[in-house]
Amino acid sequence: MSLLEVTGLTTCYQLKGGTVHACRNISLRLKKGEALGLVGESASGKTTAALSLVKLLPDNARVVSGSVWLDGRDISGATEDELRRIRWKEISIIFQGAMNALNPVRPVGDQIVEAIRIHGKVSEKEAREQTRSLFESVEIDAGRVKEYPHEFSGGMRQRVMIAMAVACNPKVVIGDEPTTALDVMVQAQVLQLLEDLRRKREMGMILITHDLSVVGETCDQVAVMYAGRIVETGPTETIFLKPAHPYTMALIAAFPNIEGERNRFGSIAGSPPNLLCLPPGCSFHERCAQALPYCREQEPEVLELSDAHNCACHLYNKQVNQQWKVS
Ligand code: ATP
Ligand code: SF4
Ligand code: MG
Repeated sequence: MSLLEVTGLTTCYQLKGGTVHACRNISLRLKKGEALGLVGESASGKTTAALSLVKLLPDNARVVSGSVWLDGRDISGATEDELRRIRWKEISIIFQGAMNALNPVRPVGDQIVEAIRIHGKVSEKEAREQTRSLFESVEIDAGRVKEYPHEFSGGMRQRVMIAMAVACNPKVVIGDEPTTALDVMVQAQVLQLLEDLRRKREMGMILITHDLSVVGETCDQVAVMYAGRIVETGPTETIFLKPAHPYTMALIAAFPNIEGERNRFGSIAGSPPNLLCLPPGCSFHERCAQALPYCREQEPEVLELSDAHNCACHLYNKQVNQQWKVS
């Protein structure tokens, strides 16, 4: 059974100039203890999709439709009060810049104590003890709980964020580029730590990253986003060794070296469409080397290619091929 099951999640941002279709009909599943890598070029909607799960969105955003089931409970209709309880305690998010998420004028330990006490009936003393042991679990000396965010290095602050994110034993942790701002050595340490905690606590994890080598090393599944849609999902090995969607193929080809060097995506010729005015048909058609004439007219449906491997591309749709008389 899935721990997290998202179906048809659609989120828009309202701007003066129109509607940004940032997250379109997203569906994904995550089992207990499983890690899913969410990848795609910048502005493909990864952060919006993640934030839409717990409606942690700016005022101009609206979740238009979709359902989110967490551990057998539909949380898509949750009130703001209920959502406040769900965030941290059931689904917590680690953002890229810990400094923005931590209050600079309060000792970090106090911030974790507060998070623990808001979400659980524990005494101040117990919460302080838990905070010290959380510090140790993220390999920071427990004596440093009294220090302020600026007294920690970037890597340590990110580890503090991880401690905070797991403080209430969430069922799912979302890491939105949790290590992007760190140097390579510290990145590897922080990711390893996150991985150890995930396994120990059997948390589900959604890892948003531009780094395919990290996905290859840590994730069981991959979801590839393009122009607000998930265009391909599948087990990590399948996605890396037998990608089906031309965009996934291009992403993998553009990545310098999946097994070694860590880097951001290289470039894929052309640029993603403007989400304010999406072109008709497949949103990748202008950049797709395999595009056929009808790709410009009809948006592809998500097709199940094999167990747990889904892809939204006309190349695999026999019916559409027949309809358009393409053999
Ligand atoms: P990155 O890899 O750069 O973090 P992303 O895949 O996380 O990108 P999002 O941040 O989800 O992408 O953005 C998706 C789209 O929504 C982009 O076109 C972005 O410009 C737009 N967007 C994001 N936030 C807002 C906002 N508050 N108002 C209007 N549009 C927004
Ligand atoms: Fe390319 Fe057509 Fe598939 Fe889109 S639907 S990825 S344009 S082949
Ligand atoms: Mg983002």
